[in-house]
Amino acid sequence: MQKGTIGVTTENIFPVIKKFLYSDHEIFLRELISNAVDATQKIRTLSSFGEFKGQLGDLNVKVTVDKNAGTLTVSDHGIGMTADDIDRYINQIAFSGAEEFLEKYKDNANAIIGHFGLGFYSAFMVAKKVVINSLSYKEGAEPVRWSCDGSPEYEMTKGDRSVRGTDITLYIDDNKEFLEQSRIDTLLKKYCRFLPVPVISGKEQEWKDGKMVDTDRDKVINNTEPQWTKKPSELKDEDYLNFYRELYPGQEDPLFWIHLNVDYPFTLTGILFFPKIKNNFEITKNRIQLYCNQVFVTDSVEGVVPEFMMLLQGVIDSPDIPLNVSRSYLQSDTAVKKISSYITKKVASRLEDIFKVDRAEFEKKWDDIKIFIQYGMLTDDKFRDAAMKFVLLKDSDNRYFTLDEYKTLIEAQQTDKNSNIVYLYATDPVAQFNYIKAATDRGYDVLLMDGQLDSHFVGLLENKLEKTSFVRVDSDVIDNLIQKDDKKDVDLSALQRNILTTVFRSQTPEVDKAQFLFSFEALSDKSQPIVITQNEYMRRMKDMAAMQPGMNFYGELPDSYNLVVNTEHPLIAKIRDAASAALDDQVKPLADRIEADNAEISKIRDAAKDKTLGAEDDQKVKDLEKAVGETRDSQEKIIADYAKNQPLVKQLIDLALLGNGLLKGKDLSAFIDRSISLL
Ligand code: ADP
Repeated sequence: MQKGTIGVTTENIFPVIKKFLYSDHEIFLRELISNAVDATQKIRTLSSFGEFKGQLGDLNVKVTVDKNAGTLTVSDHGIGMTADDIDRYINQIAFSGAEEFLEKYKDNANAIIGHFGLGFYSAFMVAKKVVINSLSYKEGAEPVRWSCDGSPEYEMTKGDRSVRGTDITLYIDDNKEFLEQSRIDTLLKKYCRFLPVPVISGKEQEWKDGKMVDTDRDKVINNTEPQWTKKPSELKDEDYLNFYRELYPGQEDPLFWIHLNVDYPFTLTGILFFPKIKNNFEITKNRIQLYCNQVFVTDSVEGVVPEFMMLLQGVIDSPDIPLNVSRSYLQSDTAVKKISSYITKKVASRLEDIFKVDRAEFEKKWDDIKIFIQYGMLTDDKFRDAAMKFVLLKDSDNRYFTLDEYKTLIEAQQTDKNSNIVYLYATDPVAQFNYIKAATDRGYDVLLMDGQLDSHFVGLLENKLEKTSFVRVDSDVIDNLIQKDDKKDVDLSALQRNILTTVFRSQTPEVDKAQFLFSFEALSDKSQPIVITQNEYMRRMKDMAAMQPGMNFYGELPDSYNLVVNTEHPLIAKIRDAASAALDDQVKPLADRIEADNAEISKIRDAAKDKTLGAEDDQKVKDLEKAVGETRDSQEKIIADYAKNQPLVKQLIDLALLGNGLLKGKDLSAFIDRSISLL
């Protein structure tokens, strides 16, 4: 019998293993099974090179729990180990360079764990004693038994294993859960689902006499040839779909997929799926899974895959992704960074291929994949640059355009006097129907920007496309959306403007959280008599406030609408002329008085220059201001009394409000009554 102490440096490792990996101790099973699978693959390789001439036999890896004995055993028929091997690989610890590293990081256990694969020794996270029983494939090898109770001392004796391979038996400590077959099944499903060697645990069950009972058939828990390990040319669409269903049972089929397959400058395979996302990002579960040679590593892939790929699903398998390391370590790993930027490139070029080869299909799926592409473009510069070629814009006729195509389409009609190309867009084709129609009647095209990320996307395009601005169709009257040179002046005298403003304002109903401003424009006589618009800047600010806390200032403001009165419209001309005839004589003297009083106020102020007014002047100004206020009030009253009896005025305002969903409650029923009596 050989007794000894495990390599000096590990004295510090045992407590570290127990204490610091507490939260993740289930990974011991992955580690032991990985070793068993490695040993199995090695014997296969040796056999194929003719270096091992015996029978390969059954190559399964088996996991057995024995509740009575309190043990969990992982058995394989791999290459096995001789006493020498155990000395070299187990006793001397595979932590190459551990001594130096431990010295450097002795105060930081996480760094130690992050840096070294725990491998075999992770068994001590859940076991009070571990026994190895092994028989090497080497000719004339003696079976060997090694045991260790978690102290640095081990025992090694002649073993009793008669078939090639290794049993690792764990005497489970307080972690009794690992003696439950159901718990083991769950872990195997998680970590071993796609291992390349069949893993057996427990028995197949069948329905008998009203309950499920074990049969005598072994239960194989894994699929040893998952689709990503095959060549894309061998696979049909149905194979990908089946694989997706196996990975994420119960999900709707994906939109499409990308098969990754690289061997230089690193090795990486995988299949990424674009899922069908329904309304909100329902993406927290069912994420991309990271594998290392078919061993599950993690599905916390933040920082490992590009941000926008958090919306994708599927698997990535690379031996270059270091197993066993903490996430922060993964994120800073250069291999991982390269992988991440490679994937970005690959996803972009695959999308471009689909776009080029089957544009009709691409367009058909556009509404669903748009969110991935926009999110990618907003969060990843490289992806954005690549995607500029195939990102699509959809217009109000449901036609799709690339950025270049769209520019060509609208350039001639929609360039303003400063040679900016103005992209018109709508966010709600139903509510903004009138505006869209006004724009298309004018020969403009209107984009639909009704997606979750569109408002951000508009910002991105404005930034990236030269001399381009985006304007929502209802942000101004049609003649002003795209400012051309040939604008007509408004034909109103100051007095008429004054009277008309009050005529309309006095008849506008109060609408909750809304504020109306009146202006006059000489629009075309085909435009509506009154058009309601919302300022683009204010609207964007309010939209952003709704999404981001800390912008309450904008959020609190009332919605401000411009009521643009079209002075070229015959009905407005009629109102103007009637009001002039009825009111000019009464209002003119009042307006003159206001003007004179205001002139007097200015004169006094000017005389005082920047100094404060003397007591006498101050009083004079106050009196004048009061007089102006009073004159204004009586002027308002005269005009409002007149306007009150002009159903046409009310009718036009209400129609405009109605077109924007702003006419409600009693104002709406008053409108209906008035309409009927006018008929
Ligand atoms: P790693 O697997 O990262 O090398 P481990 O501590 O898990 O580190 O294992 C150390 C070594 O012990 C392995 O490289 C292998 O040579 C040997 N070993 C472990 N388990 C087995 C097994 N089931 N069969 C044969 N050799 C094994």
